[in-house]
Amino acid sequence: MEEPVFRTPSPLEEVPFGMLNQLGITLYVKRDDLIHPEVSGNKWRKLEHNLAQAIQRGAESILTFGGAHSNHIAATAAAGALFGIRTIGVIRGEEADLDNPTLKFAREKGMRLHTVSRSEFRESENPDYTAMLRQLFGSFYRIPQGGANYYGVQGCMNIMKEIDIPADRIFVSCGTGTTLSGMALANRSEANIYGIPALKGGDFLLDDIKKNINQVVNDEETETHLMDKVHVLTDYHFGGYARTTDDLISFMRFFRKETGIKTDPVYTGKAVYGMVDFARKNPPSNRENWIFIHTGGMQGLPATEAKLGYAIYDDC
Ligand SMILES: *Cc1c(COP(=O)(O)O)cnc(C)c1O
Repeated sequence: MEEPVFRTPSPLEEVPFGMLNQLGITLYVKRDDLIHPEVSGNKWRKLEHNLAQAIQRGAESILTFGGAHSNHIAATAAAGALFGIRTIGVIRGEEADLDNPTLKFAREKGMRLHTVSRSEFRESENPDYTAMLRQLFGSFYRIPQGGANYYGVQGCMNIMKEIDIPADRIFVSCGTGTTLSGMALANRSEANIYGIPALKGGDFLLDDIKKNINQVVNDEETETHLMDKVHVLTDYHFGGYARTTDDLISFMRFFRKETGIKTDPVYTGKAVYGMVDFARKNPPSNRENWIFIHTGGMQGLPATEAKLGYAIYDDC
């Protein structure tokens, strides 16, 4: 088997974007979306050390959890195929369509899919439930939904470590907050980090991020210092997880036209929108360098396009 190739450090590109440049902001985009065509973005960051653990522990398979359109499910299936480890996906909702683009892709990569009811899925963090799954599937290395564990956080620290320019503000999309937790932990600069939740009611994130930092740091003064640099902008969920509006889609098209960079409607499109709106409302008084972390997620595009009934970008 050929060694899989992952493009890390991921490129950090200066991207001309008039709307921000007019306000004295130089925009850089950290292209985690270019790390790998199938294991894109922060999903590779979160899988990297989990895969290493699975291999070190001699696991024959990896079991993980996700929704029917989950980027994490697609990435885990692809990574399992690349590293020769069997994968099992526990999928939320008995009605999940195994032929949708994400689950079809996962099956083609050899992932075994197990759909469960929403109430059963909510047990995914329960040790008794894990024991039951071991009865069903034999031994496995378990990765929680979204890759949200200690090793996931560890992998996301690399995003910050790879940034080699002085940055004033850094923006990243949030689901579980695992990516932002790793970035906050590795923040040795004075940069402020802004998380933009893809879900409604993202205020819980600050607590979760604090818990993740506490797991590693265990020193109140350092924790407070790191958390002082973390902010959550909760106004850019566009109605909730995976919801879109015409305004969001037109903005994503505009950003693409201006910069050549495609974003996805579930995570990164909303985050860029949030960053630009934040800039309008809080224009910096001096020149500043801002970095947008492009966490990937393009595999989810066809599902949204099917719902909308049209293509978001006219050339794909
Ligand atoms: C999963 C995902 C996120 C959210 O990452 P968390 O670590 O769960 O906060 C952001 N962007 C994209 C593209 C994702 O697929």
